[in-house]
Amino acid sequence: MNGPSKKLRVGSRGSRLALVQVKEIFDLLKMAGRETAYELKVCDTRGDKDKVTSLTTNPADDFFTDALDQALLSGEIDVAVHSAKDLPKDLRPGLAIYALTEPIDSRDAFVGACKFADLKPGARIGTSSLARQQGIHALNPSLKIVDLRGTIEERLRQIDEGKLDGIIVAACALKRLGLAGRITDILPFDAAPLQGQLAVTGRKGEKDLESVFGLLDVRKKFGTVTLVGAGPGDPELITLKAVAALQQADCVFYDFLVHPSLMEYAPQAEKFFVGKRKGVHTIPQDEISRRLKDKAMAGKVVVRLKGGDPLIFARGAEEIEYLRSFHINVSVVPGITSATGIPSSLGIPLTARGLSTSVAFVRGHSEEEYAPPESLSVPKADTLVFLMGLTRLGLIVRSLLQAGWKEKTPMVIVSKGTRVEERIVHGTLATIESEAAKAQPEPPALMVVGEVVKFWTPGAEKDENILYLGTNPDKYRSLGRVIHHPMIEISAAEMTPGFEKNFRDLDSYDMILFTSRFAVRHFFRILQEKKIAREIVQRKDVAAVGRDTALALVPFGIRPSLVADEETSEGMLKALEKNFALEGKRILFPRSSLPNPYLREGLTRLGSRVDEVTVYRNTKPAKRPLPQVPIQKIVFTSPSTVRNFLEDHGPVPPDWQILGKGPRTLEALKKEGYTNGIVVVE
Ligand code: SAH
Repeated sequence: MNGPSKKLRVGSRGSRLALVQVKEIFDLLKMAGRETAYELKVCDTRGDKDKVTSLTTNPADDFFTDALDQALLSGEIDVAVHSAKDLPKDLRPGLAIYALTEPIDSRDAFVGACKFADLKPGARIGTSSLARQQGIHALNPSLKIVDLRGTIEERLRQIDEGKLDGIIVAACALKRLGLAGRITDILPFDAAPLQGQLAVTGRKGEKDLESVFGLLDVRKKFGTVTLVGAGPGDPELITLKAVAALQQADCVFYDFLVHPSLMEYAPQAEKFFVGKRKGVHTIPQDEISRRLKDKAMAGKVVVRLKGGDPLIFARGAEEIEYLRSFHINVSVVPGITSATGIPSSLGIPLTARGLSTSVAFVRGHSEEEYAPPESLSVPKADTLVFLMGLTRLGLIVRSLLQAGWKEKTPMVIVSKGTRVEERIVHGTLATIESEAAKAQPEPPALMVVGEVVKFWTPGAEKDENILYLGTNPDKYRSLGRVIHHPMIEISAAEMTPGFEKNFRDLDSYDMILFTSRFAVRHFFRILQEKKIAREIVQRKDVAAVGRDTALALVPFGIRPSLVADEETSEGMLKALEKNFALEGKRILFPRSSLPNPYLREGLTRLGSRVDEVTVYRNTKPAKRPLPQVPIQKIVFTSPSTVRNFLEDHGPVPPDWQILGKGPRTLEALKKEGYTNGIVVVE
């Protein structure tokens, strides 16, 4: 503004609708308690002067704003008012959007001589936008579409004079002009982004104006969307930044590639499975994008969690573009893509001196294809990684041979890479198809082709099948092929008034004791639910049993003062006794629903006061049959896995080797008569 006495100079296009919109903005300001005097300057844009060029030919992005943009930059006007959907994708340098208003109606309307459904084949319908033409065509392909330009009044006249049978216009335009009575139908397709909203633009950096018009800005109420990479499969291959995003999320949208345990980082969030998987009914991409938008507009902090990296074969770019068209703030947390992470984890270098100086990632299959193509175009690179290609193996091999690749080139198929269920099929271009037919690898799977594959050596230990009954299968993968058959199930415990009180008095404790990663996660879930500051925990001594429990604290910003190496209650007690003066200490012990009085009794004997709170439940899952594969080893991880397994499946077959974790598990096994040849594991 040029001085307090001068009126604000407002630029607008000259149509009646444009002038009504300017008035609307200043009425809104008045309602917000900021009545502002202004004078109007009409600027004719190219779109006003040129009424011939069809909008379907993609005229310049600033067709309806150019003169207003120039007037702002030259200082002729202070602000400009637009229909928000007319704004160019990128504003000119030096300009800024001060406000986007709430939409009054974001739908498209049909105005006609009859109802839309009653139109005769060949009826002439006028519209200017390509999206609307496609929308109408999808509803009724027999209609004849006529390209139409001009003001709303000029367009309506075409119907009144019998030149057209109907037109499609924005419902908000008719409402603003007091012509809502002319709407015959509301059309069911998606209208242009920002339809129904007004935009106020001005010069960048004019703080006063920005704050005045900011009162009308809906973007202030928006949440955000973060596209987050979950890593290739192994849940430990997620980044710290991704974990932080999950912890702050109000909603998480995830798909089937994402390891389910990662959801434990977001116990507070509403979760939506928008699974994408070949052959399984999937939610269309448009629908996913729309749901992300709706949540963000409702003010939510949204995480879109995708397997691998969110921008590698993941349609992330489409989501970003769609959300940005609504001026929603989008950011990306990269992830380790399966394309590089899986070969690396197997010791296959995608590049290697003398063997490979280039890599290409190739999509084997696309969702949109129904029939397989004749051949696949093979990029020129020394190493190729195929994603989404399992059902196209034959085609891939044929295309490679046609492109001149040698039959003896080594190749691997990796199914469920970096997960405990990982399976590998190895061969050459000549043999891989018959190897795959034998091994039947399951999706998701990727393939690596090239000389570098020779660096892969099969791990001999992987020949044994290990039936694992606990909750941390990843830890035992070095022992063999882990077959996960959990005999315990973890869930949130209900709060009792007594426990509530312990949580409210958190600051009165000297120490917090964690003996499992579930205790950590559920403890912090409760803090979040009860809105108790995490900083309180940072001021306390925190003691953890074992590496996994200590690691679970990292994302919450807690560095334990003590980590007991020996993963047992005995080990914990010994370490506590050695490192702390326990006399008179108040200790909080968040734990599972299964009582284990050892620690409390031990600590009480040493003079501490221990309050136990149940933060998670440890229950027996529904009975289900054992996997039909030969088993060589079985791992019991706690007394409850012993009890639950024997109850459901009877005695352990004599030829299975028994592995047990911790003295209490061994005791439970002993009680059931299993004493000989038991191997103790960490
Ligand atoms: N954004 C993902 C890729 C999505 S496309 C990423 O960066 O990893 C899905 C394809 O990724 C699957 O068809 C498969 O080819 C590959 N893929 C993802 N996870 C995989 C895994 N754990 N094992 C093998 N292939 C995997």
